[in-house]
Amino acid sequence: MTQSKKRSDIVQDLVARLAATGETLLGRSLAIRHVDAGSCGGCEMELLSVTLMWDHLGRHGICMVDDPRWADILLITGVSSTGLAESARQCLAAMARPRFVVAVGDCAVDGGIFKSSSSVLGGAGAILPVDLVISGCPPSPARIISGLLAVLDANRVPSAPGSPAGRL
Ligand code: SF4
Repeated sequence: MTQSKKRSDIVQDLVARLAATGETLLGRSLAIRHVDAGSCGGCEMELLSVTLMWDHLGRHGICMVDDPRWADILLITGVSSTGLAESARQCLAAMARPRFVVAVGDCAVDGGIFKSSSSVLGGAGAILPVDLVISGCPPSPARIISGLLAVLDANRVPSAPGSPAGRL
């Protein structure tokens, strides 16, 4: 078995586990809304690799959605910039509960390499209650899928509002 085949098997196993956990927690398929709050585009490249597997994800009932009213997970990439903070807040406000916020990439964790910029408020936690942060610049597709799985696993029993974010 080649190294890439092994990686592919690992990702497919993660996807199947993610779908099963989403089904257990939500009683239906899992919908994800992505918001780029101020990224360099690197995290989106990795997310693109995840979405290129959407065919496979879709078979398990996991999908990306445009309308936050349909979403269970708000996935944030990039720094929280002054220009996009309100859009991210409005996106979360439109989502029904249970809902989860996952910050993907070092910029979304704490501002990353851009944290000293005057137009950067910080990571996603500076503007939203975050359930899980996934570090990396950028994190790999397998790490992103593992993070989504972790946040669902951790919230089988919902946590109290304002509890600290987990970290992957
Ligand atoms: S974490 Fe790295 S790859 Fe992702 S948006 Fe920030 S600088 Fe770009």
